[in-house]
Amino acid sequence: MSDKGLLIILSGPSGCGKDTVINELMKRDRNVVVSISSTTRAKRENEIDGVNYNFLTKSEFEELISNDKVLEYAEYNGCYYGTPIGPIDKMLSEGKDVILKIEVQGAQKVMKKLGDEVVSIFLLPPSFEELERRLRGRNSDTQEQIDSRLKIACDELKRAPYYDYVVVNDDLSVAVEDILSVFKAEKRKTKRNTKVIREVCKNA
Ligand code: 5GP
Repeated sequence: MSDKGLLIILSGPSGCGKDTVINELMKRDRNVVVSISSTTRAKRENEIDGVNYNFLTKSEFEELISNDKVLEYAEYNGCYYGTPIGPIDKMLSEGKDVILKIEVQGAQKVMKKLGDEVVSIFLLPPSFEELERRLRGRNSDTQEQIDSRLKIACDELKRAPYYDYVVVNDDLSVAVEDILSVFKAEKRKTKRNTKVIREVCKNA
């Protein structure tokens, strides 16, 4: 068996249901954890510092960058978002499967840095019209923010072909099953099972 957990990128435009999918994945598979990002975005009413994000000031975030403490970072909608590197290494070495819920620019940086060490999944909404409906139904963002997120979504959707897998989030349970199937198949890859092969073959 492979000892190290999987590192998984989950991207998808704002409103495609990443949070709901991740919560469901963590309920279904206790080995799945999500990396807590740092951001300079303002905390929303329902969010908790240190749980949803580490909410930082711009200068605190820039210090993380200059001290090489982030695996990647990106600017999205005028704010910084980044993945702290320390906790990820620890969780992976404990055998946890770690999800990076990151947008496309950051995802591209991680893919470039880690190559096939990372598994990338793009979560698609069933249609652009449905995405717009979901975003407009949110009460947490202003009209201006929603328009900006929709504009970003158009660009983000064009990046879907660069990911290893695409999952459509129409029916939540189907999307979650699809992602769990990806995890299962990835764990059976030969490169992640050299130890068990060696063990079984040693007396052959
Ligand atoms: P939101 O403001 O809706 O919480 O997040 C906006 C976007 O930033 C989402 O697409 C989310 O996946 C992405 N994001 C969250 N954390 C990170 C991160 O650490 N790095 C990058 N590159 N994107 C992130």
